[in-house]
Amino acid sequence: MGQENVVNDAANILIAEDEPAQAEVLAFNLEAAGFAIRVVSDGADALIQVEEARPDLLILDWMLPEVSGIEVCRRLRGHEATRELPIIMLTARGEEDDRIRGLDAGADDYMIKPYSPGELIARISAVLRRSRPALVGEKLDYAGITLDLGARKITRDGQPVRLAPTEFRILQALMSRPGRVLSRQQIIDLAWGPNIYIEDRTVDVHIRRLRAALSATQSATQSATLPNEGQPDIIRTARGFGYSLDIDKI
Ligand code: CA
Repeated sequence: MGQENVVNDAANILIAEDEPAQAEVLAFNLEAAGFAIRVVSDGADALIQVEEARPDLLILDWMLPEVSGIEVCRRLRGHEATRELPIIMLTARGEEDDRIRGLDAGADDYMIKPYSPGELIARISAVLRRSRPALVGEKLDYAGITLDLGARKITRDGQPVRLAPTEFRILQALMSRPGRVLSRQQIIDLAWGPNIYIEDRTVDVHIRRLRAALSATQSATQSATLPNEGQPDIIRTARGFGYSLDIDKI
């Protein structure tokens, strides 16, 4: 696929806002905060953009032409692939009912206009921390495995683990949701990106390599690795579906 070396650490945020001036200020501030931004100005376009390249988070204005913000929210929540897409809704001051309906429709949080960009960035970070800890530059820890996204280093019980970029991204996806089973398609979306065609068995091949690397014992005096000896296997196979990290397995 030619993107073995491409690792996009910045969270991708889609802004659906029909007021050009507001969208511009928002995009400027979020870009300055290190996010990758796309902007759409109506609800129909928001749905298309989410379908074409799923963002890590959607900022959704309540009042949008074509398809309203709440309807966009409802539709996204109704689809398996976007059920857990983090959504922050923007509502006008005083429209308390809208706020409640927005949360009912499945928004993760809301901001009342006018809002300060700093406050919105704090909310975005909080929502991303809950949904994708790796995107806010944290270390992921699970069962003795530490994945340091900033330094791009992995250790298991203090010993370095060497992974190719694809295996790194698969482990990152699994460690962002420890204990939860990810389908092969979810792993493909997270590790390769949405709308990239990868066969299921390619995922299996990379999982096998990841298992071997995580289980390998590295000697301090020689670089020989001994797959399947030493550390126990922590990746659980959900037959016919996908994989999870499971501490109960070891
Ligand atoms: Ca609007």
